[in-house]
Amino acid sequence: MLLSVEKRLLGVVLLFAILSLPLRLHAQENPKNVILIIGDGMDDQQITIARNYLRGAGGRLAIDRLPIRSAVQVLTVDESNPEKPVYVADSANSATAMATGVVTSRGRIATAAQSNLALKSITEIAIENGVRTGAVTTASVTDATPASFLAHSVNRGCQGAINMRKEKCTVDRLERGGKGSIAHQISTSSIDILLGGGRQHFDASILKSQGFHLVESKEALEHLPYNGKVLGLFSEGDLPVQLRGENNHKAEFLDFDGQSIVAPPAFSCIPNPLARNVPSLKTMTEKAIAHLDRNNERGFFLMVESASIDKQAHRRQPCGSIGELEQLDEALGVALEFAAGDTNTLVLVTADHGQAAQLVPYPSMLPKSENAFSIGRLAVIKTPEGGLMGVSYATNNAAYEEHTGTQVPLMMNFMPPEGAQPVFDQPQLFSLMRFFLRM
Ligand SMILES: [Zn+2]
Repeated sequence: MLLSVEKRLLGVVLLFAILSLPLRLHAQENPKNVILIIGDGMDDQQITIARNYLRGAGGRLAIDRLPIRSAVQVLTVDESNPEKPVYVADSANSATAMATGVVTSRGRIATAAQSNLALKSITEIAIENGVRTGAVTTASVTDATPASFLAHSVNRGCQGAINMRKEKCTVDRLERGGKGSIAHQISTSSIDILLGGGRQHFDASILKSQGFHLVESKEALEHLPYNGKVLGLFSEGDLPVQLRGENNHKAEFLDFDGQSIVAPPAFSCIPNPLARNVPSLKTMTEKAIAHLDRNNERGFFLMVESASIDKQAHRRQPCGSIGELEQLDEALGVALEFAAGDTNTLVLVTADHGQAAQLVPYPSMLPKSENAFSIGRLAVIKTPEGGLMGVSYATNNAAYEEHTGTQVPLMMNFMPPEGAQPVFDQPQLFSLMRFFLRM
């Protein structure tokens, strides 16, 4: 029997209402996630050097496939006069600006310049809002970048109990009413998962009493997820890097033998055998995402750091930096796979400051003379595609290169309408992540 037109119309309307109800509820309740990936010291020189070596000059990395490309101006202020700018950052003040939205002075871990005031971090705001939190790093988990998301300290050096005896850590001492070492603050925190190195700074019994499941091997990490909080510590300090120069070659001074310039021998990059026993950044990122996403209706904030792009550049070891950039790229692959096909997971890739390495002509294009060579140290790298790449390190003449003050890249899987900027500074990046997580 045919229904009347009105009845059929009512049926269609009801059916539409019933079908669209769960869809609308779903759209409102979708968890929102932010994955912030930081390449420590990963400026455009580092990206280009790594791309040339890993994929060839015409090749593409995962970071090259992110559709949004912007830049971040890194802001730093003077310790004794916060009105005065400083043009080169360290990882502590830079990570603090991303984690808290406040520009501070070098060495600060989520504390204000001069006043020592603790600045609330995105991790703490997330915890208050029921958003799950995690951090993954190839450094010690107490190192400046992760620490700025997890703790508050007047100085990045106050990592564990042993460091607290230093004069500079006095105000942070528990017996002085301070918050204790960075490791102590992590041990008593509500972070859901934290993976990296730095076992030397932690006390397993305190971790256990605070409800942390301690994971200490690559094999144990395979058994994630566990219920409750997870702390994975896979080495005493920073994790070993994936690549090194063959015969441990690094950048060296050029010689002038009276007749001509003698460049150091060209070398390739080879796997570092020490890295075999620790999980890759990719694996740690995969495990952290799975742990944070499980039965999660509110969303999560995850910070992923490839730390040793910077640490290896300080030591003039380009192969180390290349291998760590590859680790970041692989971790990004995992994040993008998780984020594929929806706009609920914002993936950001950026750096905290520039580094010393510079891609220079090799050999020099200038007429041959004793002055046509780098006064810094030069590494000549044999690339798998058959080229020679000159990488110069020349920020100083000491045992350790220094950071540089360039703006750093920002790549994203999409640009959320809230807080979009043509160029960002780090407090704007903080606001963008916060808006996206609806908190
Ligand atoms: Zn550094």
